[in-house]
Parts: sequence; C-alpha cells; structure tokens
Amino acid sequence: MDRLKSKIRDIPDFPKPGIIFKDITPLIKDPATLRLTVHQLLQPFLCRDITAVAGMEARGFIFGSLVAWELGLPFVPLRKPGKLPYDVQTVSYDLEYGSATLEAHTDAFNSDDRVLLIDDLLATGGTAKASCELVEKLGATVAACAFVVELDFLQGRSLLSNYEVHSLVHF
Ligand code: IMP
Repeated sequence: MDRLKSKIRDIPDFPKPGIIFKDITPLIKDPATLRLTVHQLLQPFLCRDITAVAGMEARGFIFGSLVAWELGLPFVPLRKPGKLPYDVQTVSYDLEYGSATLEAHTDAFNSDDRVLLIDDLLATGGTAKASCELVEKLGATVAACAFVVELDFLQGRSLLSNYEVHSLVHF
C-alpha cells in the first residue's frame, strides 16, 4: 500500500483554506498503480454474490467503472442533481455548510441486486451514507462499500456501522 500512498499527494488549502485535499490524479496517471489499485479494491469481492457496482460522482466513476469492468458487472453512476436524463430517485444529505444531493435512475437496480459501492475517498461518511440510502430507496441491497482512501481522523466509518466497509489506504 506504500506504492499507492506514494501516488496520493496533499494539496494544502484546497478547496478552501485549512483543508488538505488528497489528490489521486498522480495515482490514476500511473497505469501500473491504477491497475494495482483496482485489483486490490475488487479482491475481497471475487467470490461474493455482488450483482452490480455503483460509483459516486465524480471520482467514484473512475474506480467504480474499472471494478465493474473487471468483475463483468453492470456499473451504475450516482450523480449530482440534474445530470441524469431519465426518471430519478433522490437523496439529500447535510454537509458542513449546506447540503448535497445524489440521484440515480429509477430503473438502475433490480430488487434482488446486491450492490458494491465504490468511491475514491471516505471522509466524514456523508456521501457514502447517502449513497447507501439511495441504493436502498431503489429497492436493492448494499453488499459493501469500498474506498481507495480513508481519512481515519474524520471517523466516516462510524456513519456506516450498518455496512461492510473496506479501504485500501488510511491517513
Ligand atoms: P464525505 O462525504 O465527507 O465522506 O466526503 C467524501 C466525498 O468527498 C467523496 O466523494 C470524495 O470524492 C470527496 N472528497 C472529500 N475530501 C476529499 C479529498 O481530500 N480528496 C478527494 N476527494 C475528497
């Protein structure tokens, strides 16, 4: 995992003063490290009855679609509001300042789907918790959540105590 960590850089004061942003663009720019990351992400689920992979906009699309491709499973994008063209189901959740919304198409899942949720990073857990709620509102089951990076000091995992959670690297 040191190899993955070496490809994640700190950007101070982004997107606002006082925040140290974990930038994964060096990781996805390096094909061998990206391949390693995707294989490590999907490893726990190789012998599991996962039937679909969902990714949160936007960096969850990168890792989620590669995991779905490798597992030979459907990929479902969970999107910011107003982006999806068909009928949508919606969840809203609180941010430190204000709120955010995620949407998915109403026909994104079947009722017997067992969904693997993928995002680049787990911080406070709000995005992931809302994503789990969205999957469940659409009648499917969350099998697990998997992240490339987890910021342990923000304790996002505690919001996901009802779910199986995997992260590759911890800061
Ligand atoms: P949370 O809802 O606070 O857990 O924030 C996680 C969401 O915000 C994920 O969709 C991440 O892509 C994004 N995010 C928050 N902080 C960072 C960061 O430092 N680097 C990359 N993405 C981040």
